[in-house]
Amino acid sequence: MRTNIVGVFGLCPACGKCKCLTKHHIYPKRFFGGGGPILFICRYCHDKIERDIPQYIKLTKERYIEKVNDFLTEVRYVQTRRGSQATM
Ligand SMILES: [Zn+2]
Repeated sequence: MRTNIVGVFGLCPACGKCKCLTKHHIYPKRFFGGGGPILFICRYCHDKIERDIPQYIKLTKERYIEKVNDFLTEVRYVQTRRGSQATM
């Protein structure tokens, strides 16, 4: 029996929807070889977060953590604003 898991179904921390989640390596594999913390996030949000991370410039590990935090905060902020439009 194969135990290779391709996707995990769960709640995406960025968009808050229940989706098939993919692994996001917070420290890019191309620079750090795949070690370090992993964030489970849906493919849609993963594409967005990847767009925000420089492809060819290596940042410090702290900056990558910041990027992820900024991304998650920004998405929540946009959702909150959208949700409160009715009262404006
Ligand atoms: Zn998502």
